[in-house]
Amino acid sequence: MKKKLVLIGNGMAGVNCIEQILKLDQNRYDITIFGSEPHPNYNRILLSSVLAGDADMNDFVINS
Ligand SMILES: Cc1cc2nc3c(=O)[nH]c(=O)nc-3n(C[C@H](O)[C@H](O)[C@H](O)COP(=O)(O)OP(=O)(O)OC[C@H]3O[C@@H](n4cnc5c(N)ncnc54)[C@H](O)[C@@H]3O)c2cc1C
Repeated sequence: MKKKLVLIGNGMAGVNCIEQILKLDQNRYDITIFGSEPHPNYNRILLSSVLAGDADMNDFVINS
């Protein structure tokens, strides 16, 4: 049976950590991610472009 792994926060650093874990072993954990934002995992560094009206939120989703 898979161990459970829970990530609180759907941000870049935490989800990158999950990506690295999955590269090592895709089947080791049953993973659940809790996020407080109404968006999927996105590149927050590019948020300025959205705030400036130059890009759409969907343009920089990292993991949908
Ligand atoms: C407008 C803007 C522009 C930026 N530009 C740059 C740049 O040019 N270069 C650069 O290096 N950095 C930039 N940064 C900073 C960069 O985005 C952050 O350093 C980076 O996002 C930090 O990643 P993180 O995953 O640690 O945290 P975050 O991206 O903050 O992710 C944490 C996530 O956890 C969620 N969360 C927190 N508490 C809870 C909870 N209790 N339950 C559920 N979810 C929770 C938050 O909602 C958030 O989604 C910018 C930031 C902003 C806002």
